[in-house]
Amino acid sequence: ADRNPGQPEFLQAVTEVIESLWPFIAVHRKYTGQGLLDRLVEPERVVMFRVSWVDDRGDVQVNRGYRIQHSMAIGPYKGGIRFHPSVNLSVLKFLAFEQTFKNALTTLPMGGGKGGADFDPKGKSNAEVMRFCQAFASELFRHVGSDTDVPAGDIGVGGREVGYMAGMTKKLSNRADCVFTGKGLSFGGSLIRPEATGYGTVYFAEEMLKTRKLSLQDMRVSISGSGNVAQYAAEKAMMLGASVVTLSDSGGTLVDEAGLSAEKLAMLMDFKNNQHGRLVDFAVQIGAKFEAGKRPWHVPVDIAMPCATQNELDEDDAATLIKNGVICVAEGANMPTTIAAGQLFEDANVLYAPGKASNAGGVATSGLEMSQNAQRLSWSRDEVDARLLHIMQDIHAACLEHGKGPNGKVSYIDGANIAGFVKVADAMLAQGVI
Ligand code: NDP
Repeated sequence: ADRNPGQPEFLQAVTEVIESLWPFIAVHRKYTGQGLLDRLVEPERVVMFRVSWVDDRGDVQVNRGYRIQHSMAIGPYKGGIRFHPSVNLSVLKFLAFEQTFKNALTTLPMGGGKGGADFDPKGKSNAEVMRFCQAFASELFRHVGSDTDVPAGDIGVGGREVGYMAGMTKKLSNRADCVFTGKGLSFGGSLIRPEATGYGTVYFAEEMLKTRKLSLQDMRVSISGSGNVAQYAAEKAMMLGASVVTLSDSGGTLVDEAGLSAEKLAMLMDFKNNQHGRLVDFAVQIGAKFEAGKRPWHVPVDIAMPCATQNELDEDDAATLIKNGVICVAEGANMPTTIAAGQLFEDANVLYAPGKASNAGGVATSGLEMSQNAQRLSWSRDEVDARLLHIMQDIHAACLEHGKGPNGKVSYIDGANIAGFVKVADAMLAQGVI
């Protein structure tokens, strides 16, 4: 804590991992060597830079850009770019740290990184977004490369923003690889990449439910967020027979007691992705209830999927969900649940998956995009989807293997942390103190 003042999110993410690792390392003593843990909690490189751009009124705007290159132990740095006013060093360091373990869990050769800027895309014109993305990429491009660091999207960065940043990166580097994943299909993107994080989260939930001989069929599901991850989590949950009763954004929660229909979800995707509208206005359009300023967790459900942002589900929310009989909580977002809330779920025997396991399908499919790019091939939708499902099943199996306690009870938190750690730590030990 002394070395990282003012970084609560980073300390929270490290604490959660270290609590899982401590008992494991006490038994597996080789991991006490080479200053391994001290090195693992220190990013290999942090880049901070000025992003200056001109808004539509002709005024100069200045934002702060970042790229955290956390670990290259098992492959090039890999992780998304976030544009949100809350972005700071603490948030991006926590995300890059978590990403390192998550990427190891995918079994693909990817290290961990994360980046972004305190830029707020809300209310900006398309031209402003393009100028900002170009200004951001004009510094970022010198730090990335397909064997060095491969960025992607995250909050506030979807296909449009990736396209603008990839375009500028291509121009400045004079290389067609564009470096980013999450690219458009016409310039090297992969089918299923937009769907992958949401779909993967649902595949993971289905695997957890199978351990209790249950499935998503006829389950009531609450989802928070209404962006990329939330939309495709909703789509896949509905495809598997569940009823999705909530979505949210920073303005509040949309509640549809009857469960969203496929038609309404398609309308939502158009409204959010093409018109960049707010959920409160969408609720009016479809005649649904909108609870301003509220989160979804008071609505009684069987399954909860937080898919918006960090620390959006606290101890009180967890207690309410448990009281209402929740069976399974699968995180689509990164660290949406506080440490205390996660502990409550585990104590209550709720099937609880931390994001670094359950939302790893996004980066896994980015890894598949990198493989396709390297081979100059593109795989069919079915092939990518089948590989995604397979990877999520493997991650689930790894969590079971490493997460089983002495009493036979599985902690997915411990399982994900230990399984990810073992792979990164073995690579670091083999490569020596560097
Ligand atoms: P989007 O920008 O597409 O959507 C984010 C959603 O979360 C929006 O509905 C947004 O509402 C809401 N949200 C964001 N910040 C807040 C906040 N502070 N309070 C309340 N609501 C908020 O992002 P994604 O769907 O891509 O990302 C969602 C989560 O999933 C993040 O935690 C991200 O790190 C994680 N993730 C994403 C992956 C991906 O492939 N995209 C991969 C793995 C994890 P509003 O519009 O009002 O801000």
